[in-house]
Amino acid sequence: MEIKWNYKNQDKIFDTIDGAGVPFLSFKALDETGMVTNGFSTRLGGASRGKFATMNFSYNRKDEPADVLENFTRMAKALNVDRDRMVVSYQTHTVNVRRVTEADEGKGVIRKRDYKDVDGLITDVPGLTLVTFYADCVPLYLVDPVHRAVGLSHSGWRGTVKRMGQVTLEAMEEAFGTKPEDVIAAIGPSICKDCFEVGEEVVKEFEAAFDESRHRELWSPGARPGKYQLDLWRANGIILREAGVKPENIHITNICTMCNSDYLFSHRRVGEERGNLAAFLCIR
Ligand SMILES: [Zn+2]
Repeated sequence: MEIKWNYKNQDKIFDTIDGAGVPFLSFKALDETGMVTNGFSTRLGGASRGKFATMNFSYNRKDEPADVLENFTRMAKALNVDRDRMVVSYQTHTVNVRRVTEADEGKGVIRKRDYKDVDGLITDVPGLTLVTFYADCVPLYLVDPVHRAVGLSHSGWRGTVKRMGQVTLEAMEEAFGTKPEDVIAAIGPSICKDCFEVGEEVVKEFEAAFDESRHRELWSPGARPGKYQLDLWRANGIILREAGVKPENIHITNICTMCNSDYLFSHRRVGEERGNLAAFLCIR
């Protein structure tokens, strides 16, 4: 299937790479560091069937485990990374960040995870591929070319309120000496402001979490009474900037999962009847 992305703007943020029949998105700015392999999966090129068709990476949604494993195998080949050295998060909308090492290789893919409640992964080990899951929530890719370290975090609205981007940068600073001003950051494919309608209770949390001067740019009244359109892309960009990442080093997706639900899983579009997308980040 040929992909015709429905972009939010004309910025050239991504390459769509055809990895031997497995298409995936790759941030140009992260590739240009020469240090990492980065990817974001689509629904295409996988082995899963029915509501999981075809590239589902979740073992926890009652998909056939053999199909999920085959999807990891195909994606690893497309990315040219080692499937058995992938390390997978255990996402529960926390801001817990795990430093992963060789001891974690294969966890969540070919071995059981011996941790839980981990929404962010960091490492400085080349060849390990960090993997996190999505279906509208926001992926944060962080690359520190100075200390040769990376982070990959899941930041839904709850993670955004708890400033997952900043928390992950702090974990990288503690573990590797990362300075935010050196970091190249990318905010990955996820739900856009036009698609993300929220209620008063969510807006109240953002009111408390962000300076008042930011409120007007973060949400606006929705079409329905008591509803708002919330901009998670901008919110995560603000968090990264306030944490010290240079504005020119923050690359924000122009592909929305819900606007592109032919190619991407979107929770808001189809609810629980779906598979999971995945983000991948590996130090070469
Ligand atoms: Zn959208």
